[in-house]
Amino acid sequence: MTPKEKQNALKAGEIAKKVKEYARTIVKKDIPLLEIAEKIEKKIVELGGKPAFPTNLSINEIAAHYTPSYNDETLASGLLKVDMGVHINGWIADFTFSVDLENSAENKKLIEASEKALKNALEKIKQKNSLGEIGRTIQETIESCKFSPIVNLTGHEMNEYELHSGLTILNTENDNPEKLKEGLYAIEPFATNGNGKIYEGKPSGIYALADDKNIRSNDARNVLDFIAEEYKTLPFCSRWIVKKFGIKSLFALKQLEENGNLHQYPQLIEISKGKVAQSEDTFLVDDKIIVTSE
Ligand code: MN
Ligand code: MN
Repeated sequence: MTPKEKQNALKAGEIAKKVKEYARTIVKKDIPLLEIAEKIEKKIVELGGKPAFPTNLSINEIAAHYTPSYNDETLASGLLKVDMGVHINGWIADFTFSVDLENSAENKKLIEASEKALKNALEKIKQKNSLGEIGRTIQETIESCKFSPIVNLTGHEMNEYELHSGLTILNTENDNPEKLKEGLYAIEPFATNGNGKIYEGKPSGIYALADDKNIRSNDARNVLDFIAEEYKTLPFCSRWIVKKFGIKSLFALKQLEENGNLHQYPQLIEISKGKVAQSEDTFLVDDKIIVTSE
């Protein structure tokens, strides 16, 4: 990463801290998820950043990839994960907190387990431990709280306009001796009282550009050109496209997906419908380790 790129990543992190603080004040039981997502994304822009992906507001057994549709009526409840992204010129801060909205001791313990795992993993990273050691710490911390890590969700490296690129950071014990090299990473332990695995559920309305190849419909082409210009290879959602082009553009999205221009992400659901808590922060590995979003 160049000094300028690092600066961008750090600036995204500065905005992330403020957005996190703000989000904690507006996330309350029975507030529409649509309102929460839009307020968070508006705040990111007000602070000089752009959303790196649609705000994910996933409840209970939905581990990730729930973002409200343009006409969503779901209200905040249960164990809610608030997963947010900020970018500056493609350099991302990816960060999450979880909240208990039903006064449940079990939810609170799950949240504590994921927070502790994140904290312990960051300690290991600062001590320049291997990826195997980091995974082991996450698993041990969560299991010491009598819960399970989700084995098929991982932390990840990030690059310019790439939310997931390069290395993955497992949330479980493994024998990878590799250490983190200079770069930008997110670490995200998930704790569950279920089996500890997710399956792919319904389509999420979250998409990313897959292929810029030609499409015959003019409407679809216009939408595709906007996506390529505005989001590049970062995820976006149908809600954002409807805001820009109106409800008719949902058909264009369908055409673009069928033509292979777009990839749509599925919701990720815990296999035994266990409740899921997630904690996440972004850190920059340089001469020293800087947690950008905390
Ligand atoms: Mn995230
Ligand atoms: Mn992430």
